[in-house]
Amino acid sequence: MYPRPKSELRYRTQFQFAVAVMLSAQCTDKAVNNTTKTLFKKYRTAKDFAGATPSVLERELSSIPFYRNKTKAIIGSAKMIIDDFGGRIPRSKEELERLPGVAYKTANVILGELFNIWEGIPTDTHVKRFAKRFDLADSNDLTKISKELEALVPKKDWQYVNNGLVLYGRYVCSARPHDCKEHALTKIYPKAVNIWPRTKK
Ligand code: SF4
Repeated sequence: MYPRPKSELRYRTQFQFAVAVMLSAQCTDKAVNNTTKTLFKKYRTAKDFAGATPSVLERELSSIPFYRNKTKAIIGSAKMIIDDFGGRIPRSKEELERLPGVAYKTANVILGELFNIWEGIPTDTHVKRFAKRFDLADSNDLTKISKELEALVPKKDWQYVNNGLVLYGRYVCSARPHDCKEHALTKIYPKAVNIWPRTKK
């Protein structure tokens, strides 16, 4: 269904994508895109964000959960990228994880989307739900679930897991109880809608 799954976060520059991913923690992509629509007209590069006045950026991000911490992380990351990485987003997980507010999941989302480098499987709420629903992971911790999935899925297929399951979870198999009509096999064999086990949270 998703031969080239991509993030639905909107951006024009690489640093804007990093900002959007940081903002998306505990927040929907839709809400992030609503905020960044205006924000990204004003701030385009790491230099723009590094020069932001914290109180102004806080106000501009105030509709996003944890906006105060996220403001600090964004400005701190922008400054580090200029001081330590020549103004460019680094291309390794270890370097990305040095940025404030960037941990395993965010680093791997950035590497995959911007550079098609898959050094790990990022786990978010959709990936976690599927990992648990299909009994692919025992842990409840997101990074530990990533490790369990990385042990199961061949490395060449890591690129499909996060974005593929996010799209599938968003548009086909949501967390809410649903009738499975959008499931790919239901489309081929409609009667299957009466056969699938009833979904539950
Ligand atoms: S059958 Fe229903 S619950 Fe199972 S994966 Fe498909 S859409 Fe989700």
